[in-house]
Amino acid sequence: MRLLFLGPPGAGKGTQAERVAQRLGIAHVSTGVMFRQHVADGTELGQTVDAIMKSGDLVPDELTISMLEERIRHDDAADGYILDGFPRTLAQAQALDAHLGAEGLDAVVVLDVPEDELVGRMMSRGRKDDSEESIRNRLRVYAQDTMPLIAFYAERDIVASVDGVGELADITERILSVLDGGSGGGLNSTV
Ligand code: ADP
Repeated sequence: MRLLFLGPPGAGKGTQAERVAQRLGIAHVSTGVMFRQHVADGTELGQTVDAIMKSGDLVPDELTISMLEERIRHDDAADGYILDGFPRTLAQAQALDAHLGAEGLDAVVVLDVPEDELVGRMMSRGRKDDSEESIRNRLRVYAQDTMPLIAFYAERDIVASVDGVGELADITERILSVLDGGSGGGLNSTV
């Protein structure tokens, strides 16, 4: 199963992607985590992306796409994965399509969280790139570059919106239920 979790920064994609990946026994692939690891390790890529991430801008597509394509070739991704934080631009989505071929993604889960709640969540998690200015920029970049992907995937009828407010465990169950198509949920629904 190949899934994509979409949603604004602070929506809890990373947390939920980790939990759902564990439940489904598939890999959790987060480009944000991978870039932060490169920064921490001081690799050449890490040195390139450090300032970009702090400002809340996007890392250039070609760097992001090649890192991601290399990652999903690993053995642990052979049975499926949840993409978290990629694709974030139309160019990345098109590159992913080209890479995956005809089969493509099975489902796209959009986590819905109101904007005032997002800022509060990010301010309280205390990550290095979570300054107020960077957060505002990331929300702007999300609206401009990433939100169009919802319509892009909705044309394939693979999008499900899930309410991202509430208890962590409840949100996980909501996601699993839309992926199952059970209990009134299912793709193209709102839970
Ligand atoms: P958040 O969900 O809070 O935005 P992420 O961990 O997903 O956090 O991403 C952190 C930063 O990493 C982004 O602001 C961006 O600079 C960089 N990044 C992550 N994924 C991508 C991507 N697919 N394309 C470009 N930049 C990315």
